[in-house]
Amino acid sequence: MALEAARTTPRIAIIGCGFAGIGMAIRLKRMGIASFTVCEAGADVGGTWRENTYPGAACDIPSHLYSFSFEPNPDWSRTFASQKEILTYLKHCVGKYELSPFIRFNTRVLSARFDDDARIWRLDVETGGRRETVQADVVIAANGALSRPALPQIPGIDRFAGKLFHSACWDHDHPLEGKRVAVIGTGASAVQFVPHIQPRVAQLLVFQRTPPWIMPRRDRAVSERAKRLFRTFPVAQRIVRCAIYCQHEARALAFVVEPKLMKRPTAFSLSYLARRIKDPALRAKLTPHYRLGCKRVLLSSDYYPALAQPNVELVTTSIREIAEDGLITEDGTHYRADAIVCGTGFQVVDAGAPFTVIGANGADLDARWRREGPEAYLGTTLADFPNFFMITGPNTGLGHNSMVYMIESHIAYISDCLRALERRGARTMDVMPGIQRAFNDRLQRSLEGTVWNTGCRSWYLLKSGKNAALWPGFTFSFRRLTRRVRAEDYRFTD
Ligand code: NAP
Repeated sequence: MALEAARTTPRIAIIGCGFAGIGMAIRLKRMGIASFTVCEAGADVGGTWRENTYPGAACDIPSHLYSFSFEPNPDWSRTFASQKEILTYLKHCVGKYELSPFIRFNTRVLSARFDDDARIWRLDVETGGRRETVQADVVIAANGALSRPALPQIPGIDRFAGKLFHSACWDHDHPLEGKRVAVIGTGASAVQFVPHIQPRVAQLLVFQRTPPWIMPRRDRAVSERAKRLFRTFPVAQRIVRCAIYCQHEARALAFVVEPKLMKRPTAFSLSYLARRIKDPALRAKLTPHYRLGCKRVLLSSDYYPALAQPNVELVTTSIREIAEDGLITEDGTHYRADAIVCGTGFQVVDAGAPFTVIGANGADLDARWRREGPEAYLGTTLADFPNFFMITGPNTGLGHNSMVYMIESHIAYISDCLRALERRGARTMDVMPGIQRAFNDRLQRSLEGTVWNTGCRSWYLLKSGKNAALWPGFTFSFRRLTRRVRAEDYRFTD
C-alpha cells in the first residue's frame, strides 16, 4: 500500500499522533510537504493525553508553557490544565491545521524495515485486524516515551479476583464508590488520582515503596480579565510563557550545575510536609531519604491532605504477593481489597525499542538497545538507520521543564534534516557512528555527578545504572544543538 496522502517526494510516515506527531505534521504542512501519513494506533488523536484519563489527570507544567509556541491558547481555564482541556487543545490543533486527512487511526506499526536495495522503509502495520505494508522514504517515530504501561511483577497478580487496572487504562465503567481500594505506587500519576478517589471509596490502602518529594501545586483559575488580555495582546501571553520558561529553566542549575542549590527547596518541601501531616508516624513514612530531584519532584496540594483522612492507610511494607481477595505484605499482613489500581508507571529505558526496527544491513535497534542501552544522536538520529528520526528519543527527557519545548527542538532539527537531504539531492542520511559514539560519551560524562545518579531508584536509570532517559542540561542548550544540522556529522547516499 502506498501512502494515502497526496504524493510528492519524500514519502514520510509519522508514527503516533500525540503532541510530537501533531507538531511534526503541522511543520511538514508549513514546509509545503503533503506526502505524509500519521499512523496512530488509537482511535483518536492525543497520545498520552488521550490515554491517561484517570481522575485528576492534569499537567504539572503550567499550561501557558505546556503548549506549542506557535499556537498559544489564551483560553486555558487554569494555570495547570486538566487532561480533558489539553486533549481539547490538541484536537483544536488538528482541526485548525487540517491534519485529519493525513491521519490513519487504529493503525499500529508492528515493525519498520529498511530495504537496502530500494533504500526505502517498509512498515508492517495492523489496521482494523488486517496487516498491510506502508512504504516510506522517511520514518519519524513520534510514539512517545511513556506509552507502554507497566504492571508490577508481583507474584499472584493474575490470581486477584477483584478488579485490577493500570492508571493509564482507567476503567471508568467500574465505579470505586464504597469499595476497599488498594493503590500500588506513589508516583506522578498516583499523587494526582489518590485525592480524587479518596472521598469516594470506603477504604483506601496506598502501598508506597519510596516516598516522593512533593511541593504544593499553585493551581488556580485563570481570570476572565487575563484571558481577555491574552486574546487582545498576544504578546502578554508570550511574556508570561517566557517568564514561566525561565523560572523552570533556572531549576536546571540545581539539577546539573550546583547541587547546593537543592538545599532551599529541600527544606521547603520538608516544611510543607510538616505543615500538612501532623501525625508524626505518618510524616516519618512520608519523609524521603534520598536527594530531592533524584526522582521527579511531584506537585500536589491535595495528596498529603488526602493521606491524612481516616479512611486512608499508607502501607510501607513491601508487597509479598497478591491473593484472590487482596494483597499480602512481607510481614504476613493480609489487606483485603475489592479493586487494585496500579500507578506503577511505564516501561521505559530497559524495555528496548517500542517496535521492531531493522535498519541498513540488518541492524536491529532492539538488540542494540538491549545490549548497549538506548542511545541516539541528539535523541533523534541513529547510525545505520537511514532516514529514521525520533522525537523525544533517548536522553531527551526532562525533570525540570516542558517536554513540548524539547519536542519543538526535535521538530526543527528533523525539518532541517529534510532540507539537508533536498539541498544535496540525497536519498538518505544517517549519523556517522563515531559522531554518535562521541556524543553519547560526552553526554554520559555530563550525567556523572548529577542528582539523578545519587542512589535512588527511578525510571530514568537502566538496571546497569546508566541514565538513558534525561537530557543533562539546559533545554536552550538542546535547542542550540538542534537548530541546524551539521552536514559533516552525517553519511548521505544518492
Ligand atoms: P512513576 O513516576 O514511575 O511512579 C511509579 C510508582 O509505582 C512509584 O512510586 C514506584 O515506586 C511504584 N512501583 C512501581 N513498581 C512497583 C512495584 N512492583 N511495587 C510497588 N510499587 C511499585 O509512574 P507515573 O506516576 O505513572 O509517572 C511516570 C511519568 O509520567 C512521570 O515521571 C512523568 O514524567 C509522567 N507524568 C507526568 C504527569 C504530568 O503531570 N506532567 C503526570 C503523570 C505522569 P518506586 O518509586 O519505589 O520506584
